[in-house]
Amino acid sequence: MVRDIVIVGGGTAGWMTAAALVRRLAGTGISVTLVESAEIGTVGVGEATLPQIRYFNEMLGIDEAELMARTSATIKLGIEFRDWGRIGDRYIHPFGAHGERIGPADFHHYWLKEQAAGTAQPFGRYCYPIVSAWNDRFELPREDPASPLTHFSYAFQFDASLYGAFLADYAQKRGAKRVEGKIVSADLDGESGFVRSVTLESGTQIAGELFVDCSGFRGLLIEEQLETGFEDWSDWLPCNRAWAVPCAIGGEVGPYTRSTARTGGWQWRIPLQHRIGNGHVYCDRYVSDGDALDQLMTSLEGEPLADPRKLFFVAGKRRRLWNRNCIAIGLSGGFLEPLESTSIDLIQSGIENLVALFPEADCAAADRDEYNRLMDLEFERIRDFLMLHYVATQRDDAPLWRDMRNMTWPDSLAEKIETFRHRGAVPNYASGLFQPPSWLAVFIGQNIVPEAWDPRVDRMADEERSAHLERVRTTIADAVERSSGHLAFIKSYGATFGDAA
Ligand SMILES: Cc1cc2nc3c(=O)[nH]c(=O)nc-3n(C[C@H](O)[C@H](O)[C@H](O)COP(=O)(O)OP(=O)(O)OC[C@H]3O[C@@H](n4cnc5c(N)ncnc54)[C@H](O)[C@@H]3O)c2cc1C
Repeated sequence: MVRDIVIVGGGTAGWMTAAALVRRLAGTGISVTLVESAEIGTVGVGEATLPQIRYFNEMLGIDEAELMARTSATIKLGIEFRDWGRIGDRYIHPFGAHGERIGPADFHHYWLKEQAAGTAQPFGRYCYPIVSAWNDRFELPREDPASPLTHFSYAFQFDASLYGAFLADYAQKRGAKRVEGKIVSADLDGESGFVRSVTLESGTQIAGELFVDCSGFRGLLIEEQLETGFEDWSDWLPCNRAWAVPCAIGGEVGPYTRSTARTGGWQWRIPLQHRIGNGHVYCDRYVSDGDALDQLMTSLEGEPLADPRKLFFVAGKRRRLWNRNCIAIGLSGGFLEPLESTSIDLIQSGIENLVALFPEADCAAADRDEYNRLMDLEFERIRDFLMLHYVATQRDDAPLWRDMRNMTWPDSLAEKIETFRHRGAVPNYASGLFQPPSWLAVFIGQNIVPEAWDPRVDRMADEERSAHLERVRTTIADAVERSSGHLAFIKSYGATFGDAA
């Protein structure tokens, strides 16, 4: 039986894992100990999330208004992509669907025909969260099938260190033990290769049956001790560096994250209650560190609030995220650039799969294999979705974009693009991240036009189709017009703007 779990690392991954385990293992007598080192610190980024985080917080029983107030959070309805297809393009990947059911075929097929007729409005105008985001409005989703406010979700943009502190408090109040100190070595079982204990600089030894490696990029246990190996995906996702810097708020605190394509990568803008998070993700083959920094600093909308920090990474994942009795969760398991804010969600998937496959102390191969299969699937799907933004560009103004257009795609991505190109069909997974509305938003946002629409669309008269589309658009526009402002909403949740957190 597993009696003691040791979590190595107290960043977002470590504290999310600790909080979830004390909650989900309550009453089992299993102890949870987390070791972290203030001297090493955390990666200090990771501010934009996906809607799934709300289920995680709900599972912990966290009050959303309290969480938003304590993490200086704003609402996120999606990600705006600027200059990705062509310079001047702008679209949002929303947390919700476009349109509504107006006939037997999916909504976008009717829009495609309307578009071909030259009478369609931009696709985003038929999507409530997009129109809401662009108008700086927010209201909570409803449960009224007749309302456009029913078919969307939302996430948060928050201060990652405050979220970590919030969960640290939560986990420790419920029994997690926190140990401060730097781990200098680990003891492995000579026969099984299992990790038996870790030793701190002070000489203290911490033993357990199950180890969760949340030590960040270095992978203290999973790589440095267990030598699991890394699958390098940088041929497909070449960005390998980032500059990050917060600045004062100088524009709107919109309910969305922005990603603007640059010559050698892209730049993020994440509005929080008290500051804007900014970063430039780039590939050092296409832009120098100095130029990347200049591009970032000269585009800041307000005064910088800290020195810029440089981060290094390689796209990819460990060959096995669960190896022996060690599970790598967070950056220790792998990293795919933050274009779609997927890392925290991968942490959540890692935790959920661990709880679902919670092992005995021998960590049976069947549990490990199933865990690794599920996590590999998540990583691969995210990789394909991220790549879509790059390969479906029409930009020809810089080597990065030319190379990405001409690269060989993984088969799994090529099939998805071809299927959509042929007749507008969209990948549909039974579960997991990025359901059809997400793929659709990016396919159309990046100007991939299908050769044909669903033939059932032709059964509807042109006037009827146009009338349906116009009704959908005006219903959304009216609903947005009546909804409250984003800032008014978060103030009603206890926000105190301008207060340094
Ligand atoms: C440029 C960039 C932007 C990102 N943006 C987003 C985003 O918008 N959304 C998103 O979801 N994710 C984002 N991420 C990812 C996100 O930041 C991470 O997934 C998240 O912060 C989790 O990090 P972590 O806890 O795995 O690692 P870390 O934060 O690095 O924590 C590692 C922990 O291990 C401890 N540790 C390490 N070695 C030792 C030792 N020897 N002894 C004791 N303790 C040790 C450290 O002290 C620390 O507590 C981004 C990442 C990068 C690089």
